[in-house]
Amino acid sequence: MPPSAEVTVRAPAKINLGLSVGPPRPDGFHPVATVYQAVALYDDVTAVLREDDGEISVEISGDFADDVPTDETNLAVRAAQLLQAEYDVDEGVDLTIRKTIPVAGGMAGGSTDAAATLVACNRLWGLQLTQTELQHHAAELGSDVPFCLVGHTALGQGRGEQVTEVMSRGTFHWVFAIADGGLSTPDVYRELDRMRPLRRVEAPQVRPELMSALLSGQPGALAVALSNDLQAAALSLRPELGETLQFGLDQGALAAQISGSGPTCLFLAADSRSAVDLAVELAESGRCRMVRQAEGPVPGARILPAIVSR
Ligand code: ATP
Repeated sequence: MPPSAEVTVRAPAKINLGLSVGPPRPDGFHPVATVYQAVALYDDVTAVLREDDGEISVEISGDFADDVPTDETNLAVRAAQLLQAEYDVDEGVDLTIRKTIPVAGGMAGGSTDAAATLVACNRLWGLQLTQTELQHHAAELGSDVPFCLVGHTALGQGRGEQVTEVMSRGTFHWVFAIADGGLSTPDVYRELDRMRPLRRVEAPQVRPELMSALLSGQPGALAVALSNDLQAAALSLRPELGETLQFGLDQGALAAQISGSGPTCLFLAADSRSAVDLAVELAESGRCRMVRQAEGPVPGARILPAIVSR
């Protein structure tokens, strides 16, 4: 692909259908076995070439703009810096992120912005990196970033960065109750370590019934196969989320679970119609900051076709 002066990449949020967490490694990371699914809740990252200098800037718009840093701690900026340094790029980039994924919500918002930026800068700067090379850089940026590149449904091992595609049939309908405020992922892992005696913690593993449920494409089978080892820790830090989960179940959700490290609550609906009904009930209940609905699985970070205007 030839380089372009402007590229927009659409990148999805992730959920964890199963998240099994092992005891912390000597480097502090927890080994996980997780089944990710990419859902149709997207951030769009637009990258515009700066030919005259090597500066990297970022602006944020959308629902959660005020919660996102615009300095070098922004994961999208770090992704651009990484490629620029690794491949001696002289040019810079102006990034604009339109955010619809909740920040610190357990849906990998920052990670997916980083994945989108890798894809965008690869095109913008004409680097011609392969998918494998992009995956390698994604893993340097964070545990969830490689999955955000590939999307669909995948098994994540190691810190979550070793991804393998998982067979999944059909489309599932999800509803998200987005809480006020975020939860820090490291805080949730610390709480998990505090809550469980380490000597009893086994190596992480994915439940076989989760794989069968995905193959069957049946939401009823998936509902009983979901799991999240971080849920108890997230609920310990934010007990009110338990009531939100129960409310969704009372309104007909097939299953309710904390998304990743939380505090977003996710609900599996039987079909798209039930998802709409559940979303309305949740929104009217006033229990959360906002409610979103999305289908999964969807692909990972993808370049959007340029809109040609006359
Ligand atoms: P994960 O599910 O991968 O653990 P998360 O969804 O809980 O992550 P993020 O939305 O990625 O959390 O945000 C975590 C922190 O990262 C935020 O508090 C924010 O300050 C910082 N951050 C850096 N870059 C970004 C970005 N592009 N978008 C959102 N947050 C970012």
